[in-house]
Amino acid sequence: MSRVAEALIGEYFASGTLAQLPSRHFINGQWCSPASGRQLETFDPGTGRAFAAVAAGDAEDVELAVAAADKAMNETWRKVLPVERSRILQRAAEGIRTNAERLAIVECLDNGKTLDEARGDVRSAARLFEYYAGAADKLQGDSIPLGPDYVSFTHLEPVGVTAHIIPWNYPFSTAARGLAPALAAGCTAVLKPAEQTPLSALLLAEILHQAGLPAGVCNVLTGTGAEAGAPLVANPKVCHVTFTGSVGTGSLVMQAAARNITSVTLELGGKSPAVVLADCDLEAAVEDVLWGIFSNAGQICSAGSRLIIERSIHGEFVERLALRAAQLTLGHGLKNPHIGAITSLEQLNKISAYVDEAKKRGVNVVVGGARGVDPQSGEGWFFQPTVLDNLGPMDRLVQEEIFGPVLAVQVADSVEEALLLANATPFGLAAGIYTRDITKALRLARDIDAGQVYINEYFAGGVETPFGGNKLSGFGREKGLEGLGSYCRSKSVTARI
Ligand code: ADP
Repeated sequence: MSRVAEALIGEYFASGTLAQLPSRHFINGQWCSPASGRQLETFDPGTGRAFAAVAAGDAEDVELAVAAADKAMNETWRKVLPVERSRILQRAAEGIRTNAERLAIVECLDNGKTLDEARGDVRSAARLFEYYAGAADKLQGDSIPLGPDYVSFTHLEPVGVTAHIIPWNYPFSTAARGLAPALAAGCTAVLKPAEQTPLSALLLAEILHQAGLPAGVCNVLTGTGAEAGAPLVANPKVCHVTFTGSVGTGSLVMQAAARNITSVTLELGGKSPAVVLADCDLEAAVEDVLWGIFSNAGQICSAGSRLIIERSIHGEFVERLALRAAQLTLGHGLKNPHIGAITSLEQLNKISAYVDEAKKRGVNVVVGGARGVDPQSGEGWFFQPTVLDNLGPMDRLVQEEIFGPVLAVQVADSVEEALLLANATPFGLAAGIYTRDITKALRLARDIDAGQVYINEYFAGGVETPFGGNKLSGFGREKGLEGLGSYCRSKSVTARI
């Protein structure tokens, strides 16, 4: 472990907090107190105790942030050359890498995830800025052939001020996933992190500023969804809203945006299947399905939260999976166990309620099924990795997103039935397929209704791979070159000559 990390972890366990954490909004290139003067506490899920406080933003702060973004759009950012945008984003990637250990530790404390998971998120955020830095000066239009009497071309222009509403499960990397392409395309931004996990986005705003981003181009304000998120998405100066979160809130965001005819990208929930066929590499598939659901304590919209398995290997597979799940350690994220905490007590209660209800009606809990604590302190918000076996297709554990370390197992008698089961939920975010038969895999990939399909490796792909959902999982794609689409619009210019 690096010396920086050792010192910060020591400081945290000795004092219950860290020095120099951000506590105000970052608006127009500076730290800025909330108009209301109120603050919101933020909790360490690994202990269940508050360790920092941030501004409780409201409509007045939103107005200020959007005005700053609007002014920067018209007066500064529009005039910055694409190559210079690219250099700023490249420097931001370097800034993230330079500060990686502190960022990961803050993320780990705010979210509850393990330090290694937080480090992975920070690496992926740096990579997002690097990737879109490379695109900033390559956003070209087309020339349109209309014959000798006309000259016609398209020009890709930035949409304008963009709003980013961020969830609590991947606070830092989701902020980067929206900001990097928006800034690359020449947009300005106002970002609101989730009230449970506000800190890393504020640190990101500071890093962008230090990388040379002009004042007002990226503004981060903290606060609750009702007080800060709602006025942000309803602001008529906002030209695009990028939202990641629950289906219910996504629908509210879309309705608010509709009043201003503002476009939205919605990345919502999922109930993604891991379809395991009898001819798979069993050992590899067990390990992969395990991490498809238990990474980030299952708090991943694209988690493989349903196992659909062919009957002939069902018994052996579930037995091996349960053995591995029982070996996984829970604990405070900074101690780097296998599985970290659940980010909020509210979410922990929600997960518990699902599992308690399942137990009451006699569902087979193969492993887990209860809350946990950090083994050294006896504190924190944890849930054991849990496998629930043999569920029917209409069971609520199959149909509803739990957003925790709970795997619902469904048994299929054929590949055809596996496909029917895979598609039989209201969601369409991701799917995993495990088989040695590439034809079966590609046929399933063709027929599964999901935004991304992983074959023989759950979460395969990276920053370069477009990501988004179908059905209730939302629409629009982030990451990859497609991720730029939300932030650019084409203008055609045609001249009679
Ligand atoms: P959860 O219910 O799991 O906390 P949400 O989807 O409600 O998830 O939250 C995702 C993000 O949406 C958070 O940043 C939250 O503050 C924000 N949010 C919640 N309600 C609204 C709203 N009405 N308008 C805009 N943003 C909101």
